[in-house]
Amino acid sequence: MRLFDLSGRVALITGGNGGIGLAFGTAMAEAGAQVMVAGRNPNKNGEAVKKIKSFGVEADSLIVDITDPEACRAMVNDTVKRFGRLDILVNNAGTAVRKQPQDISLDEFRMVIETNLTSAFVTSQAAYPEMLKTKGGKIINIGSMMSLFGAAFSSPYASSKGGIVQLTKSLACAWAKDNIQCNAVLPGWIDTELTQQAREQVPGLHERVLSRSPTGRWGVPDDHAGTAVFLASAASDFVTGASIPVDGGYSVFI
Ligand code: NDP
Repeated sequence: MRLFDLSGRVALITGGNGGIGLAFGTAMAEAGAQVMVAGRNPNKNGEAVKKIKSFGVEADSLIVDITDPEACRAMVNDTVKRFGRLDILVNNAGTAVRKQPQDISLDEFRMVIETNLTSAFVTSQAAYPEMLKTKGGKIINIGSMMSLFGAAFSSPYASSKGGIVQLTKSLACAWAKDNIQCNAVLPGWIDTELTQQAREQVPGLHERVLSRSPTGRWGVPDDHAGTAVFLASAASDFVTGASIPVDGGYSVFI
């Protein structure tokens, strides 16, 4: 369908080398977008590029640590150098430190905020002039259920993901006049490297997610495919500032 067609579009996905980010990349590639994957691990980057290219589009990768603002700016420049433009930015890379708040060091708190929130701000800021050149763009920020709920074991993460929702609304307000839509996706509990770690570190988490989810299952990264293409495409041109749960009903179930 023309509304969902991403042919000729260029997407930059932080943390696009695995989990939810790679699911965004493959969905957008299937809709015709060229994809730049950014991550720290060169092997994962290479595998992700191979998978994305199997959909018949151009793809490439950059080794980037997004806690470095200069690296975030260079990542945007390098994407434009490689593909000629930037239409879609997915601020997806993220991390967590799971401890009670009284046990978290300031360095740990800062590291999570810098990874999950500051990098999204810096990268969006760097993408803005590029999106102005093509008279529009799509910014998709990845939040979490912890954008909505508190978590005793994850105060820095929840702080960063709450901030992502407000950053999303603010960028949406500022840049709507430039035909740039900025939205957030709030994934539920999705089976990825990040949550495999969480299941080991938080006793009872696996069972709690199953019993709390109306769908009765953990999500998989590909559960995001439809929302990814919708938010990246013309189909969402009048949707901005929204935070869309992709959670199998977790956030509405009691
Ligand atoms: P993964 O651990 O599979 O992916 C995390 C990604 O972030 C990896 O690609 C990793 O790349 C990248 N990354 C982490 N830190 C950095 C850094 N400093 N610089 C560059 N890249 C970095 O987890 P998910 O796919 O689950 O997570 C993706 C996003 O989804 C995160 O923002 C997470 O908070 C969010 N989310 C996940 C949920 C879930 O249940 N899984 C629920 C709600 C939100 P590399 O390995 O190369 O470092």
